[in-house]
Amino acid sequence: MRVTLLGAGDTTGTPTVGCDCDTCEAARERGVERTRFSVHVENERVDESLLIDFSPDFRYQFLREDVPLPDAAVITHIHFDHLDGLGNVFRVFDSLSVYAADETDPQTGKSVAETVRDDYHYLDPLEVRPTTPLETIHVCGFDVTLVPVEHPPLVCYGLAIEDPVTGAKLSITGDTSYNVPEASREVLADPDLLLADAIVPAHLCEYHPAGGRHETDDGVPRTFGTKHMTREGALDLAAELNAERTRLVHLAHYYPADEAFEEPLAVDGEQYEL
Ligand SMILES: [Zn+2]
Ligand SMILES: [Zn+2]
Ligand SMILES: [Zn+2]
Repeated sequence: MRVTLLGAGDTTGTPTVGCDCDTCEAARERGVERTRFSVHVENERVDESLLIDFSPDFRYQFLREDVPLPDAAVITHIHFDHLDGLGNVFRVFDSLSVYAADETDPQTGKSVAETVRDDYHYLDPLEVRPTTPLETIHVCGFDVTLVPVEHPPLVCYGLAIEDPVTGAKLSITGDTSYNVPEASREVLADPDLLLADAIVPAHLCEYHPAGGRHETDDGVPRTFGTKHMTREGALDLAAELNAERTRLVHLAHYYPADEAFEEPLAVDGEQYEL
């Protein structure tokens, strides 16, 4: 299993357009970036690739990393930074299966699969595959399981990707607070590599209107507002999941410049062989 981090950033990316903060300036100086979230997972055994989320930066990411176009894709949720690259399918793919959860979202009255189908009904190559969370499907030679996470007000899913032949396992938290349900934790547990949402460090919770929550015994918030984990929350979750290796992703340019490029914060283009 070859994992390529196509986009390790949050919804504005780093550098953010029009931003001259120290972190965006430092990224430019270092020649690194964090585009909108997407992960490419290649199965060399069957010569197929699975894409996790359609970043608005899809075209640029594939030109930059020169990885094979995917044979199938998963959409974790309907936020812009995970879904709105799907229009890139037009005239690039003859057909593409897109897997997304089949549970109705009380907020929209539709499942992620139904929203994908409705929003991109004009894309003939698209074959939407409604998928039941916590039930394993087989795609690109992998066992793939969507797991509910907490990203209010929308439903959102993390996922585990395992190669049943080699035993390699990748877990992705999806956009989530630290409050990942127990049944989902069981599926995500013991990965060779965990990609965990860690949008900001915990000390920035004081700037969020909703503050932080899910504090440690020492009062350190593991959730930023209600939607995302802090760096500290993501690292706690990684320890609880017994992750062999962890990279923090979905990172905002609000990380102070002296923290933004420290380990284990990911940047675009990192590649892992599991
Ligand atoms: Zn900035
Ligand atoms: Zn989101
Ligand atoms: Zn996001």
